[in-house]
Amino acid sequence: MKRRVVWLAACLMAAFSVVAVLRPAYAAVGCRVTYAVTNQWPGGFGAAVTVANLGDPLNGWSLTFVFPDGGQKVADGWNGTFTQSGSAVTVTNAAWNASVAGGGTISLGFNGSYASANPAPTAFSVNGTACTGSAPTTSPPAPTTPTTPPTPTTPTPTVPPAGDAWSPPSTLVQPLAAVWAHQEQTYSNGNLYGFRNYGWDQLFAADGAINYCVRWDSTARVTAAQRDAIHGALQGQYQKWMDQMLDNGQGWNNWPYRQVPVKVVGWAVRDRAQLDWTDNSVDIYVGNINENAPQCAPACGRFFHQDNNYSGCPGGASHHYDHSLWLTAGFGGGAGGDWGQRMGSEYFLSNLNAENIHIFLHELGHTYGLDDFYDWDPTPGRGFLMRAGSATQITDFDKWMFRDWWRHLKSRYGR
Ligand SMILES: [Zn+2]
Repeated sequence: MKRRVVWLAACLMAAFSVVAVLRPAYAAVGCRVTYAVTNQWPGGFGAAVTVANLGDPLNGWSLTFVFPDGGQKVADGWNGTFTQSGSAVTVTNAAWNASVAGGGTISLGFNGSYASANPAPTAFSVNGTACTGSAPTTSPPAPTTPTTPPTPTTPTPTVPPAGDAWSPPSTLVQPLAAVWAHQEQTYSNGNLYGFRNYGWDQLFAADGAINYCVRWDSTARVTAAQRDAIHGALQGQYQKWMDQMLDNGQGWNNWPYRQVPVKVVGWAVRDRAQLDWTDNSVDIYVGNINENAPQCAPACGRFFHQDNNYSGCPGGASHHYDHSLWLTAGFGGGAGGDWGQRMGSEYFLSNLNAENIHIFLHELGHTYGLDDFYDWDPTPGRGFLMRAGSATQITDFDKWMFRDWWRHLKSRYGR
């Protein structure tokens, strides 16, 4: 089941990396960046950023810069995925502009906000190399001749963080190391740690509780009983992944949450008359169509506001949503990413009481960074949830892949 949804023009639906982008062994980076505020109003501005590639062709790129003033924030960007941590901004390529020829340019833009001043950033880097405005002058490393033919190697486990008790079953140690190495190589153009909107990031930003928007992408009507049953199913299924972090009710490796409350705060529909309830227990968004489907207000969505600034959300931060549950009539399979999970509306409704809503569980796994396994099987023949079609519940291997994410990211959250 697809790890990400269909890409849309100038949209922020970038989940994780789209394809494994292989970099040449040596690429000389040279760049010149022009940054222009194109429009400014009290508290807000638009900016255009042009990157001229003066070096080797780029196959996957990441642009970084730092805002000089602590009040400057990116709100919405286009032609790349914008993330911000403190004053540091990272823009990674969209799928369609990953490749940039030598001499080519990248055109980006964004709308942002500022507090008191809006000075232009002065230093930019591409793929970690400062943009000096000149072509690269360093020479590539001399080629070396291998004395022995390269042999396939078993990946060595990455060095675990200090104090980490990494204790998976011995038979899983090597497959887990292979999976982690593969993810590090293929996610975000080799910069897995540069992405800051995994489910883990969202859960910690929300203090251990998750809010949902249901995108009702169907012409069917929904009863209050169905609404409540969907809420209940989400809570029960979500907790199944959270339970993987517990040993005898205690958090593994300093994991802090025993129960993660899940709340549906909003429903998005085409027509209010589809919803057979009159109470105001959830926010209702009508006719806000994006990607051809109803969507809750972007001002309330974590995907659109990774700085957790929900000041534009009617009702404020308590009405924000972290993930969308996107239920589409007649949709087979599923898709998942940092924006949420998508599957067929008929599938989800007919499995509300299932012990394992396995497509949902698989897609939620993607939200938490877990990979797909279409083309390889790290535990041959054993089957696991994230290898679509080979298991219908979270297995021990899934559990340890999940825990591997936690042990590699937990320092982000001071754990
Ligand atoms: Zn999948």
